[in-house]
Amino acid sequence: MKLSVQPRVFVFGVSGATWDVITPLANAGRLPNIRKLIDGGVSGVLASVRPEGDKHFRPQTAWPCLSTGRRPESHGILRYFHTAAEMQVPSIWQLISDTGRNVGTYSWPMTWPPKEINGFDIPCYHARDRRTWPPELEDIRNLDRQSAKAVLDREGDARLRLLESLRMAQVLARYNVLYPMAGSLLRSAARVAFSASAEERTLELRHAKQQLACGLFLDLCRRYQPDASAFVTFLVDYISHRYWRYHEPEKFGEAPAAPAIRNAVINAYIAVDNMLGRILQRMDSNTVVAFVSEHGMAAEPDSTEHGDWHYVINAARLKQFAGLDEHIHAHPIARWVAYRRDDGALIASAEVEKLQSLVVVETGEPLFQVFNQQHEIIVKFNLATDVAFYRQANLENLHIAMADKQIGFSELARRNDRRRSAMHAEDAVFILHGPGIKRGASLQGAEIIDIAPTLLCAAGIQTSAVFDGKVLDVFGS
Ligand SMILES: [Zn+2]
Repeated sequence: MKLSVQPRVFVFGVSGATWDVITPLANAGRLPNIRKLIDGGVSGVLASVRPEGDKHFRPQTAWPCLSTGRRPESHGILRYFHTAAEMQVPSIWQLISDTGRNVGTYSWPMTWPPKEINGFDIPCYHARDRRTWPPELEDIRNLDRQSAKAVLDREGDARLRLLESLRMAQVLARYNVLYPMAGSLLRSAARVAFSASAEERTLELRHAKQQLACGLFLDLCRRYQPDASAFVTFLVDYISHRYWRYHEPEKFGEAPAAPAIRNAVINAYIAVDNMLGRILQRMDSNTVVAFVSEHGMAAEPDSTEHGDWHYVINAARLKQFAGLDEHIHAHPIARWVAYRRDDGALIASAEVEKLQSLVVVETGEPLFQVFNQQHEIIVKFNLATDVAFYRQANLENLHIAMADKQIGFSELARRNDRRRSAMHAEDAVFILHGPGIKRGASLQGAEIIDIAPTLLCAAGIQTSAVFDGKVLDVFGS
Protein backbone atom coordinates (compact mmCIF):
# COMPACT_ATOMS: atom_id res chain seq x y z
CA MET A 1 0.00 0.00 0.00
CA LYS A 2 1.31 3.43 -0.90
CA LEU A 3 1.67 5.69 2.08
CA SER A 4 0.40 9.10 1.17
CA VAL A 5 1.94 12.00 3.04
CA GLN A 6 0.39 15.42 2.59
CA PRO A 7 2.84 17.90 1.12
CA ARG A 8 4.38 20.60 3.20
CA VAL A 9 3.84 24.20 2.11
CA PHE A 10 6.43 26.97 2.00
CA VAL A 11 5.65 30.57 1.02
CA PHE A 12 8.51 32.83 -0.02
CA GLY A 13 7.12 36.36 0.16
CA VAL A 14 9.05 39.02 -1.74
CA SER A 15 7.50 42.39 -1.02
CA GLY A 16 7.23 44.54 -4.14
CA ALA A 17 8.50 41.91 -6.62
CA THR A 18 7.41 42.47 -10.22
CA TRP A 19 7.66 40.42 -13.41
CA ASP A 20 9.03 43.53 -15.15
CA VAL A 21 12.33 42.90 -13.38
CA ILE A 22 12.15 39.12 -12.92
CA THR A 23 11.46 38.16 -16.55
CA PRO A 24 14.50 39.81 -18.19
CA LEU A 25 16.83 38.77 -15.34
CA ALA A 26 15.56 35.18 -15.32
CA ASN A 27 15.87 35.00 -19.12
CA ALA A 28 19.46 36.19 -18.83
CA GLY A 29 20.18 33.34 -16.41
CA ARG A 30 20.71 35.64 -13.44
CA LEU A 31 17.93 34.24 -11.21
CA PRO A 32 18.56 30.49 -11.46
CA ASN A 33 16.42 29.47 -8.49
CA ILE A 34 13.40 31.51 -9.53
CA ARG A 35 13.88 30.19 -13.08
CA LYS A 36 13.75 26.63 -11.77
CA LEU A 37 10.44 27.32 -10.02
CA ILE A 38 8.98 28.96 -13.15
CA ASP A 39 10.08 26.14 -15.47
CA GLY A 40 8.86 23.39 -13.16
CA GLY A 41 5.67 25.02 -11.89
CA VAL A 42 2.77 27.36 -12.62
CA SER A 43 3.30 31.09 -12.73
CA GLY A 44 1.51 34.28 -13.61
CA VAL A 45 0.50 37.77 -12.69
CA LEU A 46 -1.21 38.01 -9.31
CA ALA A 47 -3.62 40.94 -9.16
CA SER A 48 -3.24 42.89 -5.94
CA VAL A 49 -6.26 44.50 -4.29
CA ARG A 50 -6.81 47.78 -2.52
CA PRO A 51 -9.63 49.01 -0.36
CA GLU A 52 -12.32 50.93 -2.22
CA GLY A 53 -11.38 54.57 -2.69
CA ASP A 54 -7.70 54.03 -1.87
CA LYS A 55 -5.22 55.24 -4.50
CA HIS A 56 -2.40 52.90 -3.44
CA PHE A 57 -1.85 49.17 -3.23
CA ARG A 58 -0.74 48.91 0.37
CA PRO A 59 1.25 46.13 1.99
CA GLN A 60 -0.63 46.39 5.25
CA THR A 61 -3.89 45.40 3.54
CA ALA A 62 -2.42 43.12 0.88
CA TRP A 63 -0.52 40.73 3.16
CA PRO A 64 -3.66 39.89 5.16
CA CYS A 65 -5.41 39.29 1.80
CA LEU A 66 -2.71 36.74 0.99
CA SER A 67 -2.93 35.04 4.38
CA THR A 68 -6.73 35.05 4.79
CA GLY A 69 -8.03 34.70 1.22
CA ARG A 70 -10.36 37.60 1.99
CA ARG A 71 -10.76 41.10 0.57
CA PRO A 72 -9.69 44.07 2.74
CA GLU A 73 -13.27 44.88 3.71
CA SER A 74 -13.79 41.39 5.08
CA HIS A 75 -10.46 40.88 6.88
CA GLY A 76 -10.70 44.38 8.34
CA ILE A 77 -7.05 45.50 8.18
CA LEU A 78 -6.84 48.77 6.28
CA ARG A 79 -4.02 50.74 7.85
CA TYR A 80 -0.51 50.38 9.20
CA PHE A 81 -1.61 51.08 12.73
CA HIS A 82 -4.06 48.19 12.74
CA THR A 83 -2.77 45.01 14.32
CA ALA A 84 -3.51 41.30 13.93
CA ALA A 85 -5.74 41.59 17.00
CA GLU A 86 -8.19 43.47 14.76
CA MET A 87 -8.19 40.86 12.00
CA GLN A 88 -11.76 39.60 11.65
CA VAL A 89 -10.97 36.22 10.07
CA PRO A 90 -8.26 33.62 10.72
CA SER A 91 -5.09 33.45 8.64
CA ILE A 92 -4.09 30.19 6.96
CA TRP A 93 -1.30 29.96 9.53
CA GLN A 94 -3.90 29.84 12.28
CA LEU A 95 -6.11 27.43 10.30
CA ILE A 96 -3.22 25.05 9.63
CA SER A 97 -2.04 25.21 13.24
CA ASP A 98 -5.63 24.43 14.34
CA THR A 99 -5.44 21.11 12.48
CA GLY A 100 -2.56 20.14 14.77
CA ARG A 101 0.18 20.69 12.19
CA ASN A 102 3.31 22.73 12.74
CA VAL A 103 3.55 26.23 11.35
CA GLY A 104 6.51 28.61 11.18
CA THR A 105 6.41 32.19 9.88
CA TYR A 106 9.26 34.66 9.73
CA SER A 107 8.54 38.33 9.07
CA TRP A 108 5.03 37.74 7.76
CA PRO A 109 3.25 41.12 8.17
CA MET A 110 0.27 41.55 10.46
CA THR A 111 0.90 38.67 12.82
CA TRP A 112 1.59 40.97 15.77
CA PRO A 113 0.61 40.52 18.58
CA PRO A 114 1.66 36.91 18.02
CA LYS A 115 -0.85 34.21 18.92
CA GLU A 116 -0.18 30.83 20.36
CA ILE A 117 0.39 28.39 17.48
CA ASN A 118 2.04 25.01 16.97
CA GLY A 119 5.42 26.24 15.87
CA PHE A 120 6.97 29.70 15.62
CA ASP A 121 6.00 33.21 14.58
CA ILE A 122 8.61 35.97 14.31
CA PRO A 123 6.56 39.10 13.46
CA CYS A 124 7.90 41.57 10.90
CA TYR A 125 9.39 44.98 11.54
CA HIS A 126 5.97 46.67 11.85
CA ALA A 127 5.48 44.95 15.21
CA ARG A 128 5.11 47.25 18.18
CA ASP A 129 7.39 45.29 20.46
CA ARG A 130 9.69 42.30 20.23
CA ARG A 131 7.18 39.65 21.21
CA THR A 132 7.39 36.35 19.32
CA TRP A 133 5.77 32.96 19.59
CA PRO A 134 7.08 31.13 21.52
CA PRO A 135 8.31 33.90 23.84
CA GLU A 136 11.79 32.42 24.17
CA LEU A 137 12.56 33.45 20.57
CA GLU A 138 12.36 37.15 21.46
CA ASP A 139 16.09 37.62 21.16
CA ILE A 140 15.68 37.18 17.39
CA ARG A 141 13.51 40.28 17.20
CA ASN A 142 16.06 42.04 19.32
CA LEU A 143 18.65 41.34 16.67
CA ASP A 144 16.30 42.52 13.99
CA ARG A 145 15.57 45.77 15.84
CA GLN A 146 19.26 46.25 16.50
CA SER A 147 20.12 46.09 12.82
CA ALA A 148 17.05 48.15 11.92
CA LYS A 149 18.40 50.83 14.23
CA ALA A 150 21.75 50.57 12.49
CA VAL A 151 20.10 51.07 9.12
CA LEU A 152 18.08 54.04 10.33
CA ASP A 153 20.95 55.75 12.06
CA ARG A 154 22.37 58.08 9.44
CA GLU A 155 24.10 60.40 11.85
CA GLY A 156 26.11 57.67 13.50
CA ASP A 157 28.88 55.73 11.89
CA ALA A 158 27.43 52.73 10.11
CA ARG A 159 30.70 50.85 10.61
CA LEU A 160 30.45 51.05 14.38
CA ARG A 161 26.83 50.07 14.16
CA LEU A 162 27.67 46.95 12.21
CA LEU A 163 30.18 45.96 14.88
CA GLU A 164 27.45 46.52 17.43
CA SER A 165 25.23 44.20 15.43
CA LEU A 166 28.01 41.67 15.25
CA ARG A 167 28.19 41.78 19.03
CA MET A 168 24.88 40.04 18.76
CA ALA A 169 27.08 37.10 17.83
CA GLN A 170 25.88 35.22 20.88
CA VAL A 171 22.37 35.21 19.51
CA LEU A 172 23.60 34.16 16.11
CA ALA A 173 25.66 31.35 17.56
CA ARG A 174 22.68 30.10 19.52
CA TYR A 175 20.71 29.77 16.27
CA ASN A 176 23.61 28.16 14.43
CA VAL A 177 23.86 31.12 12.10
CA LEU A 178 27.22 32.54 13.11
CA TYR A 179 29.62 29.85 11.95
CA PRO A 180 28.02 28.91 8.64
CA MET A 181 27.76 32.61 7.79
CA ALA A 182 31.00 33.91 9.30
CA GLY A 183 32.64 34.23 5.89
CA SER A 184 29.84 36.19 4.30
CA LEU A 185 29.45 38.40 7.39
CA LEU A 186 33.14 39.26 7.37
CA ARG A 187 33.05 40.03 3.67
CA SER A 188 30.06 42.21 4.32
CA ALA A 189 31.80 44.00 7.21
CA ALA A 190 34.81 44.61 4.97
CA ARG A 191 32.64 46.02 2.20
CA VAL A 192 30.94 48.30 4.73
CA ALA A 193 34.32 49.47 6.04
CA PHE A 194 35.59 50.32 2.55
CA SER A 195 32.37 51.57 0.98
CA ALA A 196 32.73 55.00 -0.49
CA SER A 197 29.44 56.43 0.70
CA ALA A 198 27.02 56.20 3.59
CA GLU A 199 24.40 55.17 1.05
CA GLU A 200 26.44 52.18 -0.10
CA ARG A 201 27.06 51.19 3.51
CA THR A 202 23.35 51.31 4.20
CA LEU A 203 22.65 49.03 1.25
CA GLU A 204 25.33 46.60 2.38
CA LEU A 205 23.81 46.49 5.87
CA ARG A 206 20.38 45.81 4.41
CA HIS A 207 21.77 42.88 2.44
CA ALA A 208 23.67 41.52 5.45
CA LYS A 209 20.56 41.78 7.61
CA GLN A 210 18.55 39.79 5.07
CA GLN A 211 21.13 37.05 4.86
CA LEU A 212 21.11 36.80 8.67
CA ALA A 213 17.33 36.64 8.78
CA CYS A 214 17.39 33.84 6.22
CA GLY A 215 19.91 31.92 8.33
CA LEU A 216 17.77 32.35 11.44
CA PHE A 217 14.68 31.17 9.58
CA LEU A 218 16.49 28.06 8.36
CA ASP A 219 17.63 27.19 11.85
CA LEU A 220 14.09 27.61 13.20
CA CYS A 221 12.82 25.30 10.44
CA ARG A 222 15.43 22.71 11.38
CA ARG A 223 14.20 22.81 14.97
CA TYR A 224 10.45 23.06 14.47
CA GLN A 225 10.07 21.09 11.21
CA PRO A 226 7.03 23.13 10.16
CA ASP A 227 4.46 21.56 7.82
CA ALA A 228 3.65 25.07 6.63
CA SER A 229 6.19 27.87 6.68
CA ALA A 230 6.76 31.34 5.31
CA PHE A 231 9.67 33.75 4.99
CA VAL A 232 9.08 37.33 3.87
CA THR A 233 11.75 39.74 2.62
CA PHE A 234 11.32 43.51 2.15
CA LEU A 235 14.66 44.03 0.43
CA VAL A 236 13.21 44.41 -3.08
CA ASP A 237 10.47 46.79 -1.94
CA TYR A 238 12.86 48.97 0.06
CA ILE A 239 15.44 49.21 -2.70
CA SER A 240 12.94 49.58 -5.57
CA HIS A 241 11.29 52.63 -3.98
CA ARG A 242 14.60 54.42 -3.67
CA TYR A 243 16.74 53.24 -6.57
CA TRP A 244 14.32 52.65 -9.44
CA ARG A 245 15.57 55.97 -10.91
CA TYR A 246 18.79 54.15 -11.83
CA HIS A 247 17.00 51.02 -12.96
CA GLU A 248 15.05 52.97 -15.58
CA PRO A 249 17.26 56.06 -15.90
CA GLU A 250 15.59 57.04 -19.18
CA LYS A 251 12.48 57.99 -17.18
CA PHE A 252 14.40 60.16 -14.74
CA GLY A 253 17.32 61.63 -16.67
CA GLU A 254 19.67 60.78 -13.83
CA ALA A 255 23.44 60.84 -14.09
CA PRO A 256 24.98 57.39 -13.54
CA ALA A 257 25.89 56.70 -9.90
CA ALA A 258 28.35 54.26 -8.31
CA PRO A 259 27.75 50.65 -9.48
CA ALA A 260 26.30 49.54 -6.12
CA ILE A 261 23.69 52.30 -6.42
CA ARG A 262 23.11 52.02 -10.16
CA ASN A 263 22.56 48.26 -9.97
CA ALA A 264 20.82 48.29 -6.59
CA VAL A 265 17.48 46.98 -7.90
CA ILE A 266 19.03 44.13 -9.88
CA ASN A 267 21.32 43.24 -6.97
CA ALA A 268 18.30 43.04 -4.65
CA TYR A 269 16.60 40.48 -6.94
CA ILE A 270 19.83 38.49 -7.20
CA ALA A 271 20.11 38.46 -3.37
CA VAL A 272 16.50 37.28 -3.14
CA ASP A 273 17.18 34.48 -5.63
CA ASN A 274 20.20 33.52 -3.59
CA MET A 275 18.14 33.30 -0.37
CA LEU A 276 15.53 31.26 -2.21
CA GLY A 277 18.29 28.86 -3.28
CA ARG A 278 19.55 28.52 0.30
CA ILE A 279 16.03 27.74 1.52
CA LEU A 280 15.14 25.31 -1.30
CA GLN A 281 18.29 23.31 -0.63
CA ARG A 282 17.04 22.63 2.87
CA MET A 283 13.39 21.93 1.99
CA ASP A 284 11.92 18.47 1.94
CA SER A 285 11.19 17.52 -1.71
CA ASN A 286 7.56 16.91 -0.75
CA THR A 287 7.00 20.67 -0.42
CA VAL A 288 4.76 22.95 -2.43
CA VAL A 289 6.68 26.21 -2.80
CA ALA A 290 4.83 29.47 -3.45
CA PHE A 291 6.79 32.55 -4.54
CA VAL A 292 4.52 35.58 -4.10
CA SER A 293 4.56 39.34 -3.90
CA GLU A 294 1.74 41.37 -2.36
CA HIS A 295 1.87 44.05 -5.07
CA GLY A 296 4.13 44.91 -7.96
CA MET A 297 6.26 47.99 -8.48
CA ALA A 298 6.49 50.62 -11.20
CA ALA A 299 8.37 53.82 -11.87
CA GLU A 300 6.87 56.93 -10.31
CA PRO A 301 8.52 59.81 -12.17
CA ASP A 302 6.26 62.42 -10.55
CA SER A 303 6.58 61.70 -6.89
CA THR A 304 4.55 63.53 -4.27
CA GLU A 305 7.85 64.06 -2.45
CA HIS A 306 10.18 67.01 -2.77
CA GLY A 307 13.65 67.50 -4.10
CA ASP A 308 16.05 64.60 -4.05
CA TRP A 309 15.51 63.44 -0.50
CA HIS A 310 12.89 61.93 1.68
CA TYR A 311 12.61 63.25 5.23
CA VAL A 312 11.46 61.43 8.32
CA ILE A 313 10.27 62.95 11.55
CA ASN A 314 12.87 63.37 14.26
CA ALA A 315 10.42 61.97 16.78
CA ALA A 316 12.40 62.61 19.94
CA ARG A 317 13.09 66.27 19.02
CA LEU A 318 9.44 66.76 18.10
CA LYS A 319 8.30 65.38 21.44
CA GLN A 320 10.58 67.86 23.16
CA PHE A 321 9.66 70.88 21.02
CA ALA A 322 5.91 70.22 21.22
CA GLY A 323 6.20 69.61 24.96
CA LEU A 324 4.43 66.23 24.87
CA ASP A 325 3.72 64.44 28.12
CA GLU A 326 6.83 62.60 29.34
CA HIS A 327 4.94 59.27 29.39
CA ILE A 328 4.33 59.47 25.66
CA HIS A 329 6.85 57.66 23.46
CA ALA A 330 7.43 57.59 19.74
CA HIS A 331 7.14 54.45 17.61
CA PRO A 332 8.05 54.87 13.95
CA ILE A 333 5.79 52.90 11.58
CA ALA A 334 6.83 53.13 7.93
CA ARG A 335 6.53 56.84 7.08
CA TRP A 336 4.49 57.65 10.15
CA VAL A 337 5.27 58.15 13.78
CA ALA A 338 2.84 56.82 16.36
CA TYR A 339 2.98 58.47 19.78
CA ARG A 340 1.70 56.20 22.52
CA ARG A 341 1.67 56.32 26.29
CA ASP A 342 3.94 53.79 27.94
CA ASP A 343 1.04 52.69 30.18
CA GLY A 344 -1.25 52.14 27.16
CA ALA A 345 -3.78 54.71 28.47
CA LEU A 346 -5.85 57.05 26.29
CA ILE A 347 -4.00 60.13 25.09
CA ALA A 348 -5.40 63.47 26.21
CA SER A 349 -6.77 65.64 23.41
CA ALA A 350 -4.49 68.48 24.60
CA GLU A 351 -1.53 66.38 23.38
CA VAL A 352 -3.15 65.97 19.96
CA GLU A 353 -3.74 69.71 19.78
CA LYS A 354 -0.08 70.42 20.51
CA LEU A 355 0.96 68.44 17.43
CA GLN A 356 -1.79 70.01 15.32
CA SER A 357 -0.65 73.50 16.26
CA LEU A 358 2.77 73.32 14.57
CA VAL A 359 2.77 75.47 11.42
CA VAL A 360 5.24 76.19 8.66
CA VAL A 361 6.07 79.89 9.06
CA GLU A 362 6.61 80.47 5.33
CA THR A 363 3.19 79.10 4.28
CA GLY A 364 1.05 79.19 7.41
CA GLU A 365 0.13 75.55 6.68
CA PRO A 366 0.10 72.89 9.43
CA LEU A 367 3.35 70.90 9.45
CA PHE A 368 1.67 67.56 10.13
CA GLN A 369 -1.27 65.42 9.28
CA VAL A 370 -2.38 64.31 12.73
CA PHE A 371 -4.73 61.39 13.36
CA ASN A 372 -6.13 60.88 16.82
CA GLN A 373 -6.54 57.11 17.32
CA GLN A 374 -7.40 57.43 21.04
CA HIS A 375 -4.57 55.21 22.28
CA GLU A 376 -2.11 56.68 19.84
CA ILE A 377 -1.53 59.81 17.82
CA ILE A 378 -0.35 59.19 14.27
CA VAL A 379 1.74 61.96 12.72
CA LYS A 380 3.02 62.41 9.16
CA PHE A 381 4.55 65.40 7.35
CA ASN A 382 2.00 67.50 5.50
CA LEU A 383 4.21 68.91 2.76
CA ALA A 384 2.25 68.07 -0.37
CA THR A 385 3.70 69.02 -3.72
CA ASP A 386 0.38 70.69 -4.61
CA VAL A 387 1.48 73.63 -2.45
CA ALA A 388 3.59 75.42 -5.06
CA PHE A 389 5.87 76.90 -2.43
CA TYR A 390 7.06 73.48 -1.27
CA ARG A 391 7.82 72.41 -4.81
CA GLN A 392 10.41 75.13 -5.16
CA ALA A 393 11.63 75.54 -1.61
CA ASN A 394 14.61 73.92 0.00
CA LEU A 395 12.75 72.26 2.86
CA GLU A 396 15.79 72.46 5.07
CA ASN A 397 15.42 76.25 5.13
CA LEU A 398 11.82 76.25 6.41
CA HIS A 399 10.90 77.49 9.87
CA ILE A 400 8.35 75.84 12.12
CA ALA A 401 6.36 77.70 14.75
CA MET A 402 4.30 76.60 17.71
CA ALA A 403 2.73 79.38 19.79
CA ASP A 404 5.61 81.81 20.31
CA LYS A 405 8.42 79.28 19.75
CA GLN A 406 10.29 78.67 16.46
CA ILE A 407 12.57 75.93 15.23
CA GLY A 408 14.24 75.05 11.92
CA PHE A 409 12.60 72.28 9.88
CA SER A 410 15.92 70.45 9.70
CA GLU A 411 15.83 69.99 13.47
CA LEU A 412 12.45 68.26 13.37
CA ALA A 413 13.26 66.23 10.26
CA ARG A 414 16.02 63.89 9.35
CA ARG A 415 17.11 63.42 5.76
CA ASN A 416 16.50 59.72 5.38
CA ASP A 417 16.68 58.31 1.90
CA ARG A 418 16.49 59.14 -1.70
CA ARG A 419 13.12 60.40 -2.72
CA ARG A 420 10.75 57.74 -3.94
CA SER A 421 11.10 56.91 -7.64
CA ALA A 422 8.88 53.81 -7.77
CA MET A 423 5.59 52.95 -6.18
CA HIS A 424 3.44 49.88 -5.65
CA ALA A 425 1.60 48.59 -8.72
CA GLU A 426 -1.30 46.21 -9.18
CA ASP A 427 0.55 43.37 -10.91
CA ALA A 428 2.16 41.15 -8.31
CA VAL A 429 3.92 37.83 -8.89
CA PHE A 430 3.03 34.23 -8.13
CA ILE A 431 4.84 31.00 -8.86
CA LEU A 432 3.70 27.64 -7.47
CA HIS A 433 5.93 24.61 -7.67
CA GLY A 434 5.98 21.15 -6.16
CA PRO A 435 4.09 17.88 -5.79
CA GLY A 436 0.68 17.91 -7.50
CA ILE A 437 1.33 21.23 -9.28
CA LYS A 438 1.38 21.50 -13.09
CA ARG A 439 4.80 21.89 -14.64
CA GLY A 440 5.86 24.72 -16.92
CA ALA A 441 2.39 26.26 -17.12
CA SER A 442 1.22 29.83 -16.94
CA LEU A 443 -2.06 31.02 -15.50
CA GLN A 444 -4.04 34.20 -15.96
CA GLY A 445 -6.65 35.81 -13.75
CA ALA A 446 -5.13 35.04 -10.35
CA GLU A 447 -5.72 37.44 -7.46
CA ILE A 448 -3.93 37.68 -4.13
CA ILE A 449 -7.05 36.40 -2.34
CA ASP A 450 -6.72 33.11 -4.29
CA ILE A 451 -3.41 32.12 -2.70
CA ALA A 452 -4.73 31.06 0.75
CA PRO A 453 -7.45 28.66 -0.50
CA THR A 454 -5.04 27.28 -3.13
CA LEU A 455 -2.32 26.58 -0.56
CA LEU A 456 -4.77 24.86 1.81
CA CYS A 457 -5.87 22.68 -1.07
CA ALA A 458 -2.23 21.92 -1.98
CA ALA A 459 -1.59 20.87 1.63
CA GLY A 460 -4.70 18.67 1.60
CA ILE A 461 -6.38 20.62 4.39
CA GLN A 462 -10.17 20.63 4.63
CA THR A 463 -11.62 23.66 6.31
CA SER A 464 -15.00 25.19 6.96
CA ALA A 465 -13.44 28.66 6.59
CA VAL A 466 -14.96 30.84 3.89
CA PHE A 467 -12.83 32.68 1.33
CA ASP A 468 -13.45 35.50 -1.12
CA GLY A 469 -10.78 33.95 -3.34
CA LYS A 470 -10.92 30.78 -5.42
CA VAL A 471 -8.73 27.69 -5.66
CA LEU A 472 -6.48 28.34 -8.66
CA ASP A 473 -6.31 25.89 -11.54
CA VAL A 474 -2.75 24.80 -10.80
CA PHE A 475 -3.16 21.12 -9.99
CA GLY A 476 -2.26 18.42 -12.48
CA SER A 477 0.88 17.07 -14.03
ZN1 LIG B 1 6.70 49.61 -0.46
